[in-house]
Amino acid sequence: MKELLRKLIQARSTLDTGELAAAQVLADYFQSAGVEAVVDAWGENRANVTARLKGTGGKPPVVLACHLDVVAPGNEPWEHPPFSGVEVGGCIHGRGSVDMKGGTAAAAAAMVRIARMQPAPAGDVIFAATAGEETDSAGATRFVEAFRHCAPVAGVIIPEPTDFDIVVAHRGLFWLEITTLGKAAHSSTPHLGVNALLAMKGLLDDLEGHHIPFVPHPLLGDCSMSINTMHAGQAMNIVPDKCTLGIDIRTVPGQDHQAVQADMQTLIDKRRTAEPAFGAAIKVLRSVEPMETDPDCDFVRMFRRAVGIDATRAVGFTTDGPHFAALGGPVVVFGPGQTAQCHKPNEHIALADVERAADLYVAAINRCLEDCP
Ligand SMILES: [Zn+2]
Repeated sequence: MKELLRKLIQARSTLDTGELAAAQVLADYFQSAGVEAVVDAWGENRANVTARLKGTGGKPPVVLACHLDVVAPGNEPWEHPPFSGVEVGGCIHGRGSVDMKGGTAAAAAAMVRIARMQPAPAGDVIFAATAGEETDSAGATRFVEAFRHCAPVAGVIIPEPTDFDIVVAHRGLFWLEITTLGKAAHSSTPHLGVNALLAMKGLLDDLEGHHIPFVPHPLLGDCSMSINTMHAGQAMNIVPDKCTLGIDIRTVPGQDHQAVQADMQTLIDKRRTAEPAFGAAIKVLRSVEPMETDPDCDFVRMFRRAVGIDATRAVGFTTDGPHFAALGGPVVVFGPGQTAQCHKPNEHIALADVERAADLYVAAINRCLEDCP
């Protein structure tokens, strides 16, 4: 398992290099253990990898859903090269060691152990490591399409780093781009154009005073909106014909992303009524719905008992969980490593935690496949 984790880190799977090499590392690992694995590749270097253990039948499958991609190492210096996978003091260092190649290695090792069990579990166990969790969720969407016939599954376990907390809820992520549309002109005759930047000024004021409708969630609190980027203008002597804002909205369970978009459209329409020359368009850059799993449903109760941890909680970050929820089963996020290390320099994970995670995945899957109705 240690070698697998090191190889996964060395197969750098950032946005620019893609996930294919990391998918191949997992496929090789499974094949050398006698477990059949399938690499689903597309584009130049994108890929998912899946493996499926046949159960003795009767029970719906349990899914282990990982992601292959990692964020870039960033500009700050690292103590050890970020893609070396070096071992120091019982820890493996490198980009992705925590988010989430540690959990992925543990899940893959659990698969191999379950494959050797006699008799086989009562239901199938499906392993997936998918592309693009940090960017476009392309791999999760593709996996869910391909495995939709397995629905409803008994449950989905996401081995993201939670430091062994059982996570059952997180906020959604809704990234919008709003562009005001003007008319370019020579800046010596600005009256012949429509300045998109000045048009944005009014919309910015509207947005600042606007509250997106939501009902506060007992665990996750409020919906939030943050305006994070603005781009306009091509040159000093051209009236800008476009101005684009980037808005990050974090939603809570009960909110519908289409309704949030419609609410933004109403804001634009109101301004257009007041100012007929005003024009703007909304583009959705990314949409991950909020996640909420009943902590007392059969699957999560079994899971809690099997891993010996009773408490469940909510977190601030998002996962591909809402995509996997389309498979019709409850989703829990549970894995080794501390979230505080994610996306930062000197990311590292204790090997003992990766080992413990593998043990707990085996125990949880066995219990859930035996006891779930
Ligand atoms: Zn992650």
